[in-house]
Amino acid sequence: MDQQRRALIAGALAAPFANALPASALAEDSSKQVDRFDPWIEVSSSALEHNVRAASSLAESRPILAVVKNNGYGLGITHVAKVLDQMSQISGLAVISAAEAHELRDAGIRKPILLLGEFAPSDGPDLVRRHIQFSYCADDSGARISKAGKIAGKRPTAQFYLDTGLGRMGIPYRRATRVIEDSRAFDIDIVGTLTCFTESRLDPNQLSRFIDVARSAHRSGIDLGTLHAASTHSLFFYPDSHLGQVRTGLSLVGAYPADAIKRHDEVQLQPAFRLRARVIRVEHLRTGDSVNYGRRYVASKPTWVAVLPVGHANGYPRDAVKGARVLLNGKTYPVIGAVSASHTIMEVGAEREVEVGDLATLIGPDHMDIHPNVIASTISKSVYDMYMHMSARLPRFVV
Ligand SMILES: *Cc1c(COP(=O)(O)O)cnc(C)c1O
Repeated sequence: MDQQRRALIAGALAAPFANALPASALAEDSSKQVDRFDPWIEVSSSALEHNVRAASSLAESRPILAVVKNNGYGLGITHVAKVLDQMSQISGLAVISAAEAHELRDAGIRKPILLLGEFAPSDGPDLVRRHIQFSYCADDSGARISKAGKIAGKRPTAQFYLDTGLGRMGIPYRRATRVIEDSRAFDIDIVGTLTCFTESRLDPNQLSRFIDVARSAHRSGIDLGTLHAASTHSLFFYPDSHLGQVRTGLSLVGAYPADAIKRHDEVQLQPAFRLRARVIRVEHLRTGDSVNYGRRYVASKPTWVAVLPVGHANGYPRDAVKGARVLLNGKTYPVIGAVSASHTIMEVGAEREVEVGDLATLIGPDHMDIHPNVIASTISKSVYDMYMHMSARLPRFVV
C-alpha cells in the first residue's frame, strides 16, 4: 500500500487510539502474569465490553446477535462468549459449526445459540437437547429438524435462513414463501428469520426481497420471529437493514470493515486482543549480512536486529514483511527478511535498543502501526484474516 493511503488510515484511527486501553498498565500486568518465551494472545474483556456498547449505539439500542464463529474471530470462542454472555445488549450468540455450539454450552454459556451452519443427522438430537437453534436453510430442513426433535423428545427451535442474493446459504427467496408455508406441517418453534448481504458491493434488492417474504408470511399468519440481516458492514452503512436486531461479529472484536474507518469519530472500536511474544535473540549485522530464508533482507549498513519466536504458523501474516511493524518499548520496528513459520525478525537500527526478554506486541490496540486495520491495509489483506488466522494453539490470557 502506498504511504499516502497508509497515512490516511493511520490518521483516521488516531482518534480511537486516544481512547485505547491504557497500554502501559496492561503491558505491565501481562508481563507479570505471562512470564514465557512462547507467543500468546491477550484478550481484553474491557475492550469487548466497550465494543458491545459501541455496536449497540450504532444499532440504536436494538439487540445484538453476537457472531462468535471461527473460534471467536480467533480470540478464543469461550473467552469471548463468557464476556458477551454477561451483557444485556447481547440477545444470543451465533456460530457456524455444531462443534462450536457444543463448546459454548460446555463452557456454561446460557444465552440462546444459533447454529448458522448445517447439522448432520447424528448431531441433531444433541443440539436440540442443548437448546441450540437450527438454521432452517434448505427445502428439507423442516423434516430433518423435526426428526431431531422427535428423537430428543423435545420441541426444536429454528430460524429461517433466506438467500436473498448472496448465493451461499439459505432458502432462495423465490421459493421461500412456499417453504415457509410448508413449515407449518412440522413441530418446530420459529424464533427468527435472517438473510445475509453481499456487503461491500451491496445488492440493492436484497432487503426488499427479504421484506417481501416477511410480508407474505405475515399475511398467511405465520410468525417469523425476530428479523435480522445486518452484519458489521451494514451496521455501519445500512441503517434501514437493522430491523429487529443486528448480527455482528467483527465490530465486537474491535475492527472496522475496511471502508468504515471513516466512521471512527462517531464509533470508536478497540481491538480486543494483542498478539505478543518476547525477544529471544538480539544480534548485530554488518553491511552485507542477511536475515532469514531467501536473503530478501541484506543489511545496507550496520544494524541491530531482534528475533521473535512467532511466525505465520501462529497466524502472524507472512506478508507482514510488506511494511508491517512491531511494537516494543513504546516504539515500532519494521519486519524484515521473511516471516517464517515460527520466527519474525525486526530491524532495530544503529543502537541496541532491545534486549532478550523484552515484550513485543505484533498486533493490538496500543499503537496505530500495529492496529489490525492498519496492518491489513498495509499488507493488502482482509482485516478478518488478522483475527481469524490466529492459531487456535496459541494460549489465550484474558485480561
Ligand atoms: C460472519 C457472519 C456474520 C458476521 O459478520 P461480521 O462482518 O463479522 O459482522 C453475520 N452473519 C452471517 C451469516 C455470517 O456468516
